[in-house]
Amino acid sequence: MPAHRIAVIGGDGIGPEVVEAGLRVLDALAGAEPGLSFDFTRFDWGSDYYRRNGCMMPEDGLARLEAFNAIYFGAVGDPELPDDITLWGLRLAICQGFDQYANVRPTRLLPGLKGPLRPELGAAIDWVIVRENSEGEYAGVGGRAHRGLPIEVGMDVAVFTRAGIERIARFACGVAMSRPRQLLTVVTKSNAQRHGMVLWDTVVREVIRDYPDLTVDWMLVDAMTQRMVNKPGTIDTVLATNLHADILSDLAAALGGSLGIGATANIDPSRHRPSMFEPIHGSAFDIMGKGIANPLGSFWTASLMLDHLGEKSAARRLMSAIEVVTDRGEVLSPDLGGTADTKAVTDAVIGVIKGENG
Ligand code: NAD
Ligand code: MN
Repeated sequence: MPAHRIAVIGGDGIGPEVVEAGLRVLDALAGAEPGLSFDFTRFDWGSDYYRRNGCMMPEDGLARLEAFNAIYFGAVGDPELPDDITLWGLRLAICQGFDQYANVRPTRLLPGLKGPLRPELGAAIDWVIVRENSEGEYAGVGGRAHRGLPIEVGMDVAVFTRAGIERIARFACGVAMSRPRQLLTVVTKSNAQRHGMVLWDTVVREVIRDYPDLTVDWMLVDAMTQRMVNKPGTIDTVLATNLHADILSDLAAALGGSLGIGATANIDPSRHRPSMFEPIHGSAFDIMGKGIANPLGSFWTASLMLDHLGEKSAARRLMSAIEVVTDRGEVLSPDLGGTADTKAVTDAVIGVIKGENG
């Protein structure tokens, strides 16, 4: 098997910290799994790059990423730069430029972790949130006018297209069908958002007709938040828009123990262009540079990447190493109630991969 060519973009804040930890774990896996190897190429794009060059990535950035098998990403966001510039200049530029329209976010309460819910409720969390990742509320369409005047206006137009809804609905149905319960919850807000979301409902309803074995239920997004907290066991696969799923998945990660664990895959299901794998958290200004960021989200992300690359055995091995460490509960970062730093958590996961310490 040739080496997997991975583009590595640490980005800002704790992004590079958790990504470098992830690369150490991937190297350990390559040493442990016969035939597995990686060819990592690091790109120093992000806010420091912006300060030097006036852009978050070079003009030919997408062209330079195109030939890679996957992109392993950290986070963007800098206290000194406007968030919309940093996000749109790098992360969203890649997601939209490569048409990574399916964003997949698994959540489970990993063994040994507690989470904020009562134990019997927390144990029932085993979800995959499928987020529409190319249009909707984050289409980037809108405008500002009359700056500084009393009549100033700012608009973000939520753009929903039949083709965009249909492809993400099909993708979500496929995910739901691949899981034992074959249960899909479609999140909507068509009571208040009465144009795009009504089209969303209409097209999703058409698509699910092609999946007669699928059990489907519908939730308004506000009611969905309380269902996630009160009846987590009634949920399996979730389909939601770009904005709704963004919010629901931070809630999901917190219910699973910490935002620092949440992992996500930005997928181009056509596989024409590389997909991108990242923890769901941001650059976490408040803890950056302290060496205490939880790297588990970045590791889980790496496991999703391995799965996408067809390395099923390595993906499982990494996930179970993460679970051994959480289950032992001895080496956890502060966000999970422990005292371990990023390096100690990384060393613990590598130790399990290598078969040390039992
Ligand atoms: P955040 O996710 O960076 O942090 C929220 C809270 O969670 C903070 O208290 C932080 O310390 C904690 N946290 C996050 N990840 C953690 C980890 N791995 N270990 C321990 N604690 C962790 O969200 P924010 O503060 O709203 O945003 C900060 C910046 O990140 C902003 O510029 C925002 O735009 C950006 N952002 C980027 C992405 C991305 O690149 N995909 C995602 C979300 C936010
Ligand atoms: Mn988010």
